[in-house]
Amino acid sequence: MYVLSVSEKCKDVAKRWRRQYYAPAIKEWGWVWPLSVERGKAKISAEVIYDKLVALKGKGTPEEIEKIIGNSSWTDVSCDECDRDVEVVVTVGEKEDHDTRTARLCLDCLDKAVRLATKKGK
Ligand SMILES: [Zn+2]
Repeated sequence: MYVLSVSEKCKDVAKRWRRQYYAPAIKEWGWVWPLSVERGKAKISAEVIYDKLVALKGKGTPEEIEKIIGNSSWTDVSCDECDRDVEVVVTVGEKEDHDTRTARLCLDCLDKAVRLATKKGK
C-alpha cells in the first residue's frame, strides 16, 4: 500500500520516461535510443522528449509535461472506484504492473469504504 500523487509523478517523470524507453531490456531487444514515439500524426524522438523532461529539473507542472509528451497519461492520477482524476490516491493490492490485482482509491472513496465497513455510512 502506498500513496501516489500528481506532484510525485511530475517530479520523477524524466526517470520513468527513461526507464520505459531506455531500459537495458530494450537494448537487448535491439531497439536503439532514440526511439520514436507517436504524437498525433508526427513521430518524435523519445530522447528529445527525455531531454525536455530533464530540463524541467523535477519542477514541471502537469500542463508543461503534457505539452512535452503530448498526452496527460504520465501525470494523471485517477481513482479506480469513482473514475475521477484526483491529486492523490492510495494504491492497494499487488504491486502495480500489467495484469496485477491493484486498485487506486481516492481519499473520498477510502473514507466511504471505511464507513461502509464500520456501518457508519450508507
Ligand atoms: Zn474515488
